[in-house]
This record gives sequence, structure tokens and C-alpha cells, in this order.
Amino acid sequence: DRLISQIAAGEVVERPASIVKELVENSLDAGADRIEVVIEEGGLRRICVTDNGHGMTPDQLPLALARHATSKIDSLAGLERVASLGFRGEALASMASVAELSLTSRTAEAEHASCLVAQREASVRPAVGTPGTSVDVRELFARIPARRKFLRAPATEFKHIRQTFHQLALSRFDVAFRLSHGGVESVALAQALSPAQAKRRAADVLGAEFDAHAVPVDERAAGMRLTGWVATPGFSRGQADRQFSYVNHRPIRDKIFNHAVRLAYRDLLHNQRHPAYALYLELDPRQVDVNAHPAKAEVRFRESRLVHDFVFRSVARALEAAES
Ligand code: ADP
Ligand code: MG
Repeated sequence: DRLISQIAAGEVVERPASIVKELVENSLDAGADRIEVVIEEGGLRRICVTDNGHGMTPDQLPLALARHATSKIDSLAGLERVASLGFRGEALASMASVAELSLTSRTAEAEHASCLVAQREASVRPAVGTPGTSVDVRELFARIPARRKFLRAPATEFKHIRQTFHQLALSRFDVAFRLSHGGVESVALAQALSPAQAKRRAADVLGAEFDAHAVPVDERAAGMRLTGWVATPGFSRGQADRQFSYVNHRPIRDKIFNHAVRLAYRDLLHNQRHPAYALYLELDPRQVDVNAHPAKAEVRFRESRLVHDFVFRSVARALEAAES
């Protein structure tokens, strides 16, 4: 059974960054508005995510680690699929099969927190902790050398973690996020409640000049809305990791979307191969299949032509407005 778990884990736990993604998504699903990620040695030694969400009761802790025992199964129905980030109920179980995992959680009503160490069945213990949840994942793949050997150096794994963290941090401006590596603070983002604060958060992630050199996008058509910011050609930091796109507030990676943006930049690009942007597409959830590959953030649009044209026109218009 452990072997089966480890094989299944390959899908969810590719590298430390995928663990960070699953844990932060769980925290968001739990309604947290403060999330802290602590990393040691690129996540190989330790990944710890702490939130102030609704927490779990002591009897919910073993369930959280059971495969396919999601508490979000109700949300599988219909439109709410998109509302809940996790619904497969296997992330924590998979992590527990490839690393040392402990869960500490406390609901608002509980008098103290409770802690469960995976692999030590039936040992929920009282613990110290404020309301919310902390998931601690240590020694990833330590006992699976075949998997461990595919991990890169800690510095490289941390770059992936930071990119994943940035992507999540730009998905929810109402949530405060912190990331540290080896005891050193790497990113600290306060809640951004006004549009100006939101743009500043985008600049904290995309580079300080983004605040001055990016223009807002806000267009609606055919039941779709596109918001966010795109860098004008004055912004010189053209790197591929500075492009963030979201569909219904969920990070995505999509060729059609990227192509539409690139096309809008076509005549402006000059020396900028990768324009920086953070763009948020909202549309009827029925118009998009987000489950094509949950771990890889791929989506499939029902009317991809329509989406492409809308994104292209919206970005082009924002860039033109900036020119004049
Ligand atoms: P899924 O998110 O797909 O349900 P997971 O394995 O990621 O599956 O989590 C299993 C369950 O553990 C969740 O359904 C939820 O009930 C609980 N859980 C996990 N993380 C948290 C958290 N940070 N706060 C509260 N509950 C959590
Ligand atoms: Mg989950």
C-alpha cells in the first residue's frame, strides 16, 4: 500500500514547489487571510505552511491524511468545482508517503491545538497553537533515493518555490503572504485592499519598476472580464517568469492566452521577448475546463477563439492607451 501511495504521489509531489502549491491552496480553501511558508534547504529538508484558516478538529486530522478523504467532495458538483482549489483529497496522503509529515491544527472554538504525526496512527495529541493549521513536511524523498536524485540543488528548488509562491500571492490580494528560506525572509506581502496597493503588490513580485511602467487592463465583453496590469515597453525586465495569468482567480498556464498577449505586444516588443504582466480573466466557469491537468494548471476553453480575441483586443487597447 505504501508503494502504491508513493507511485500515486508522483503525480502530486513532483518537487518541493508542488508541495508548496498544494499546501497554500489548502490554506486558501480554509479561508485563511494570513499564510506563512517556511523553507529550509530548498524544501528538501523542510516545508512548513502555517495559516489562520478555519482549522480542523482532532478527529478530522486522521481523515485529512486518508487518501480520497476530501472534505470538499460536495463541491465537486457543477460550478463550484472552480471555487475550491483542491478536490482530489490526495495531496496530504501523497506527501505523507514520501516525507515526514505532521499536522497541527486548531479551530476557533477549540481550547488548544491538536497534532498528528503521519505514520504514527491514532496518536492525535494536544499541542500549542493559535487557531488555524500548520503542515510540516520534512526530509522529502529521504527514503526514496530514486526520487531524491531528480531534485536539483536547494537554490534551484527554492527558485521554483518562489515562482509558485509569487503566482499564488498574486491570485489573492486580500491575503497576506510570507516566505522565508533558511531563516531569511524572502517575500513579505501585506494584504492589498485598494487598487493602488494591489498594483504595488504586483510590483513587489514583478520588479519595482512595474509600478511606474505598467498600465491597467479592465475590459468586458461577451460575459468575460479581463483585469490586471501589463508592462509598457519602458519596462525592461523581460523574463519569462514575470508573466502571470489567472482564470477565475486560479493560476493557469495556457498557450492560447499567452499567444493572445504576445500578439498584442507584437509591434511594441523591441528588445522585450517576454513582457511582464499579471492578467485575470473571469468567465462563466462552464466555459472553461480546469481539470484537464490540475497539478499543471492547464485549462481548456470551450470557445478558445473567443477568449483569444478578447484577451488580444483588451491588452492591445491598454497598450495603445498608454502610447497616446
Ligand atoms: P483536498 O484539498 O483535495 O481535499 P488534501 O489532501 O489537500 O485534499 O487535504 C485533505 C483535507 O484536509 C481537506 O479536504 C481539508 O479538509 C483538510 N485540510 C488540509 N489542509 C487544511 C488547512 N490548511 N486547513 C484546514 N483544513 C485542511
Ligand atoms: Mg488540497
